[in-house]
Amino acid sequence: MSQIVIIGAGFAGYTVAREWRKLKLKQNDDLVIITADSGDFYSKPMLSNALQQNKSPERLINMPKAKMEQQLQANILAQTKVMAIKAEQHYVETEQETIAYDKLVLALGASPIRLPIQGNGAEQVVSVNHWQDYQRIYPKLRQANHLAILGAGLIACEFANDFLSQENKQVDIFDIAAYPLSRLLPETVGIWFAEKLAQIGVNWHFETSVSSIDNQHEQWQLNFGEQQSVTADLVLSAIGLRPEISLAQQAGLNVNRGIKVNRYLQTSDPDIYALGDCAEVEGLVLPFILPIRQAGRVIAKNLTGELSLLSYPAMPIVVKTPAMPTVIAVPVNQGGEWQVTLDDHGVKALNYLEQQLQGFVLMGAYMSEKQVLARQLPMLFA
Ligand SMILES: Cc1cc2nc3c(=O)[nH]c(=O)nc-3n(C[C@H](O)[C@H](O)[C@H](O)COP(=O)(O)OP(=O)(O)OC[C@H]3O[C@@H](n4cnc5c(N)ncnc54)[C@H](O)[C@@H]3O)c2cc1C
Repeated sequence: MSQIVIIGAGFAGYTVAREWRKLKLKQNDDLVIITADSGDFYSKPMLSNALQQNKSPERLINMPKAKMEQQLQANILAQTKVMAIKAEQHYVETEQETIAYDKLVLALGASPIRLPIQGNGAEQVVSVNHWQDYQRIYPKLRQANHLAILGAGLIACEFANDFLSQENKQVDIFDIAAYPLSRLLPETVGIWFAEKLAQIGVNWHFETSVSSIDNQHEQWQLNFGEQQSVTADLVLSAIGLRPEISLAQQAGLNVNRGIKVNRYLQTSDPDIYALGDCAEVEGLVLPFILPIRQAGRVIAKNLTGELSLLSYPAMPIVVKTPAMPTVIAVPVNQGGEWQVTLDDHGVKALNYLEQQLQGFVLMGAYMSEKQVLARQLPMLFA
């Protein structure tokens, strides 16, 4: 009998646990999941479109911890933070106890990046990367009339569209880039997308950084440019995530931007695996659901003693902005050229390198071409 320990009960941790139990259901190997949060299983992508769907935070929980324990035949230690990993001795330390493992899986997620902003209101800027964050701000999201968002990436655009699905709401978005989703879209498409969101009420501030945020009577004044300001009831920061690498680093594992793993998803210690928002596979940190699904299956097999190698197909990202439904397949290889069609039906932008389709952006009615085009994309790695 061996003991598998997973740190993290997000989509990554629970995917490994589920896939592994599928393979090992009849055997009585121990499974322990340690998580700093409640251990309830929820759909994180729903956090940025819950208002439109009229879902309270409680209704976003798909399965409470007790049921997860039953389903996975696991001991889930909730509200328990792992303080250290002793890789040579094969155990982890929490505040209360030490827990031995034969194989360890790191599914630690990521933390929101915070901008260094001046002012007495900067500390109260909120970020949403967990169910608990959302539960905390949910009443404010319902009550606030005016939301300001720092960053114009995926999460920012989705939250803006979601907030504006309620009546009489206003949104201001600030970004140093010249258009939204600037790391994912060609410029013409980004500008077109910005116009569509402006039509539902987004007020954009491009090439603009907020210098300070002042708080007075539950109002936040965002100062920028030459004595310009916007006053909002709530300020959300959505400028990106930093993979959780500190535990791994302290344990002496190789880290870069994320925890470095090979294509077996092993860290520099072969008994420790990593996946999800905390992990970096061959230089790639892909903080999305589909890559986690692929990685979870591979780790589960490897935990049973099989040797399974990760392969990544191209994995298009759906942007949850009903004002302009969008799917993006980031070009697999760089250096290609965009061929862009913008018309009344939406956008179809195809990226070609030496006549091979590398990526695409589809918006509006062109979204229906997603499956056909996705099949033409090369693998990220085979
Ligand atoms: C608002 C929002 C919308 C999104 N929408 C989409 C989408 O539409 N499509 C898509 O593909 N992706 C989307 N994503 C990204 C996707 O949800 C994430 O990539 C995925 O959920 C990450 O899962 P994870 O398990 O790696 O991390 P997390 O869910 O962050 O889980 C990390 C876990 O580690 C635990 N932990 C961390 N440190 C410790 C410690 N020291 N001790 C114990 N426990 C610890 C935490 O408590 C938590 O349980 C979205 C993300 C957000 C924030």
